[in-house]
Amino acid sequence: MKTDARIYVAGHEGMVGSAICRRLLQKGYRSVITAPRKALDLLDFISCREFFERERPEYVFLAAARVGGILANSTRPADFILDNLKIQTNVIELAFRSGVRKLMFLGSSCIYPRMAAQPIRESSLLAGPLEPTNEPYAVAKIAGIKLCQALRKQYGFNAISIMPTNLYGPGDNFSLDHGHVLPGLMRRFHEAKLEGLCEVEVWGTGEPRREFLHVDDLADCAHFLMMHYSDAEIVNAGVGMDLTIAEAAEMVKEIVGLQAELRFCESKPDGTPRKRLNVDKLAALGWKSKIALREGLATTYAWFLEHQADLRT
Ligand code: GDP
Repeated sequence: MKTDARIYVAGHEGMVGSAICRRLLQKGYRSVITAPRKALDLLDFISCREFFERERPEYVFLAAARVGGILANSTRPADFILDNLKIQTNVIELAFRSGVRKLMFLGSSCIYPRMAAQPIRESSLLAGPLEPTNEPYAVAKIAGIKLCQALRKQYGFNAISIMPTNLYGPGDNFSLDHGHVLPGLMRRFHEAKLEGLCEVEVWGTGEPRREFLHVDDLADCAHFLMMHYSDAEIVNAGVGMDLTIAEAAEMVKEIVGLQAELRFCESKPDGTPRKRLNVDKLAALGWKSKIALREGLATTYAWFLEHQADLRT
């Protein structure tokens, strides 16, 4: 991928797409193509076809998706499966038909079976039943992987798939109900601090374990794999360590400077008990994460403080 290559980043308004754009610009790429949601509806095949015919990208990072935390996934399962199937099918098919040289599809660690052996190897895909709270989203992502693999096998299309663990960082969804755990807690704890509350809610038992990767690390990894990996097999992207939600909540509490007690609210779902990724494959390819969780949370909190006025609610 030369620095004058025409590179389309689908989903550049989201946390992942915007981080990939930042990384590409830092690396000196001069022809990064983006299209705002208002100008290009990725759910609409005809608009997408016109876009690909007009822009003729050579490389595509497919970071556009409907995403959300455990509550959003469990209450809006139809939106999660339908929108993701449409967006990814439109972009992958049109990238293939318009002669794109290489495409990267971004999946998620929730594609793996709920009870997969830990840390989860790429070979665990489709080896058992999925976690019910995000099964529709996971099924859509698995369809995306299979589409990439099928186009490679039948037509030689260079599509690769990367499976990031739970992501966080600047540009995340800090909504109290719809986003993921770290931005949700950061905002709730911040508001509790301002209101001087003595008790704050954390969903579930606090016992599930999660692994967190900073989105700038992920963007660096995505660029690295675009340069150095061209194979059908999916690649995990993670940090290789996890912690409990209770431990993560304590860390967020410290960074926000909240004094209150944490109250675990067991009426909210825990989701999958554990989903730490095995990152041996990525390490063997020559990449490892650089941003420690505490440091990443501190810069994310600084970003939140700076942008809170214009965040999604
Ligand atoms: P998941 O990894 O797909 O389950 O996604 P989430 O990031 O939404 O949730 C991770 C874990 O954090 C689950 O066990 C949640 O119950 C727990 N959790 C605790 N407090 C919160 C919160 O305020 N928001 C979210 N989204 N999850 C929370």
